[in-house]
Amino acid sequence: KLFNEVQELKGNIRVYCRVRPFLPGQDGKSTAVDYIGENGEILISNPSKQGKDGYRMFKFNKIFNTHVSQAEVFSDIQPLIRSVLDGFNVCIFAYGQTGSGKTYTMSGPGKSKEDWGVNYRALNDLFDISLKRRNTFSYEVEVQMVEIYNEQANRAVGSTALNERSSRSHSILTVHVRGLDVKNGSTSRGCLHLIDLAGSERVERSEATGDRLKEAQHINKSLSALGDVIFALAQKNAHVPYRNSKLTQVLQSSLGGQAKTLMFVQINPDVESCSETISTLKFAERVS
Ligand code: ADP
Ligand code: MG
Repeated sequence: KLFNEVQELKGNIRVYCRVRPFLPGQDGKSTAVDYIGENGEILISNPSKQGKDGYRMFKFNKIFNTHVSQAEVFSDIQPLIRSVLDGFNVCIFAYGQTGSGKTYTMSGPGKSKEDWGVNYRALNDLFDISLKRRNTFSYEVEVQMVEIYNEQANRAVGSTALNERSSRSHSILTVHVRGLDVKNGSTSRGCLHLIDLAGSERVERSEATGDRLKEAQHINKSLSALGDVIFALAQKNAHVPYRNSKLTQVLQSSLGGQAKTLMFVQINPDVESCSETISTLKFAERVS
């Protein structure tokens, strides 16, 4: 049922926009989010532009407004995650500028259960279901964490190092699931990739030099390669340019074909971020 629903959407790709709330100490700031509709519409205003140019409307599969909890977000994507047990490949990305809530969505802000992001909830749910099915299915689950920094895949990075440069690297949590139907001996293999992408903010050439400039160029290259791959898949193009970045190479076997892709496009509501927000949403619009 879920698969049919996903199939109806172009190329198995869905895009959910999540708006983070203002943080404590940010009262008095004004929001660039002017309107959120019932059917995935979101209107962004840019007060520095006059008249019609000051507004831009986007439409996605769903908008999660500021009050939506971690549990509500997860319950929406739970069927997608469970499909991994049935042998599907699933990629879930969080895309957006630094500070827009990518890590909040994927990892969560703390260790308490309500705070848990998609990563913890997904693992917890997969283990839970595999226990419940233990009389009929036997599952083997393997978990791996990979960080891609400057186009290099580094395994098992120390948590300090990971934190320190997390906004400039992509972190990928991969869950491989092998299932065995104990009655008839049939097997399945599914794979879930949960990806907290590097910050998508545009770095001014004049502001960045040396290592920072190099990092920014690598991030731009990999995010635009990702956009090109998802765009090609959404268009059902015959050629999908996986080879253009490390990120798309690593994910190649789980993007396209029967695989399912979901992108959380994260936005910071602050009006001061509105032009960054508009460029984030344009990226997401192109791939949806
Ligand atoms: P990013 O990973 O995109 O750089 P973070 O996930 O670190 O952004 O979020 C930036 C800040 O905003 C953090 O303090 C985080 O706890 C907070 N935040 C993000 N999303 C939410 C949300 N939905 N509700 C409450 N706080 C949030
Ligand atoms: Mg982060």
